[in-house]
Amino acid sequence: MNPLAETNHQFDITIVGGGMVGLSLALLLAAQRRWKILVLESQSVTGETVSEYSASFDARSTALSWSSRCIFQQLGIWQKIEQHAQAISSIHVSDRGHFGMTRLEAEEAGVDALGYVVENSWLGAVLMQQVAEADVCLQGNTAISAITPKAESMQLEIDVNGQLQQINSQLLIVADGANSTCAKMLGINQHRKAYDHSAIIANVCLDQAHNKVAYERFTDQGPMALLPLTDFKNSHRCALVWTQPSEQATQLMAADDGAFLEALQIRFGHRLGSFKQVGERVSYPLALTTSEEQVRSRLVVAGNAAHSLHPVAGQGFNLSLRDIDCLARCLKDQPGKADVGALAPLLDYQRQRDKDQRNTLMFTDNLSKLFGLTSPAIALGRNSGLLMMDLVPTLRNQFAHFGMGTEQSGVDYG
Ligand SMILES: Cc1cc2nc3c(=O)[nH]c(=O)nc-3n(C[C@H](O)[C@H](O)[C@H](O)COP(=O)(O)OP(=O)(O)OC[C@H]3O[C@@H](n4cnc5c(N)ncnc54)[C@H](O)[C@@H]3O)c2cc1C
Repeated sequence: MNPLAETNHQFDITIVGGGMVGLSLALLLAAQRRWKILVLESQSVTGETVSEYSASFDARSTALSWSSRCIFQQLGIWQKIEQHAQAISSIHVSDRGHFGMTRLEAEEAGVDALGYVVENSWLGAVLMQQVAEADVCLQGNTAISAITPKAESMQLEIDVNGQLQQINSQLLIVADGANSTCAKMLGINQHRKAYDHSAIIANVCLDQAHNKVAYERFTDQGPMALLPLTDFKNSHRCALVWTQPSEQATQLMAADDGAFLEALQIRFGHRLGSFKQVGERVSYPLALTTSEEQVRSRLVVAGNAAHSLHPVAGQGFNLSLRDIDCLARCLKDQPGKADVGALAPLLDYQRQRDKDQRNTLMFTDNLSKLFGLTSPAIALGRNSGLLMMDLVPTLRNQFAHFGMGTEQSGVDYG
């Protein structure tokens, strides 16, 4: 549906950004069948593949936590996502060149899987299809030229394929990514701490099956993760996230496939046999960004626009999904005729999410720092920590449940 062909440009909720967070939120809100919802996306939304239109749905894969699985299950789309999701039955954590290692097991944590790895292109395809079937208006090729807070609504001036339009929405949700232009327009400061590291991502083929094991390997140059993917045409595939100083990442991006695989083999070792093939490589400069404000009257900042984390523990999207699940619940709990942009439920949302956000941000930031330090004393300390975790099941369990997103959210995801 082209919503802006209609004459009435009044919406209850407008979401700017049709990435993983914007689309998931649109579905969570549409499930209430209560509001008129608009999603504005800057890219075209009619590409042959979802990666053609959204920065979210590129060559990356996402490790979904148990909490994310539960949220998608509530939405009725988990079965579809699961068709191409690889369950993780154990996570092997090690510190390259040192003695410390531990292994987290799904069975020990009392769950079917510690998480699931899904390619963003598939996740995007499922979300898009669902949004197309839901009562949601999705408009691509939009550029927002002004946002004006009014007493009764947020007023947006937008350019759609060269045509200027005005939209009024009771609530505006900004989910336009880490470099949010909407936040800038609204005068919301975003703090950015560059890590001076980049993550190279690629799918790789190995000559051995991964047996549902995910590897998180800390090295003196930065952490690397090898996440199990579903087999494709009898190839054993894994998703690589290889963090390293940006200068080295640039060199590795320029290397041919053979040289890249050789360097990878040396860094990762032979735990999974030989690396055979590498797909498209993409490099992401890493930074921790946080928005100084997440709610105002008639406004919520969500997803990467609110907080964008180091990918070391695969937490960014999972955290945002718990955020927006909570937001949808807070809005749902308002009486039928209530103004959906009223400040009180938004403040309640922020209060409920504060602890999880702070803990997850601190955890990923500290983890990336701790394993980046080369001092022998610190290396000894962190390896003793890994060893201790390996010996004490309660510690392992706490760590596993943190990654699953079931501990810190305060919501019983089952
Ligand atoms: C290498 C790497 C690996 C990761 N792995 C994991 C993982 O395993 N697990 C996990 O949970 N998280 C992971 N993450 C984090 C995850 O990718 C992000 O949390 C997620 O992409 C955030 O989605 P988003 O929709 O908020 O933002 P984005 O993905 O940035 O999407 C923003 C959307 O807004 C659109 N847009 C931008 N500007 C405008 C505008 N002005 N108007 C309209 N639309 C606009 C863009 O086109 C895009 O579609 C990883 C991140 C990286 C970098």
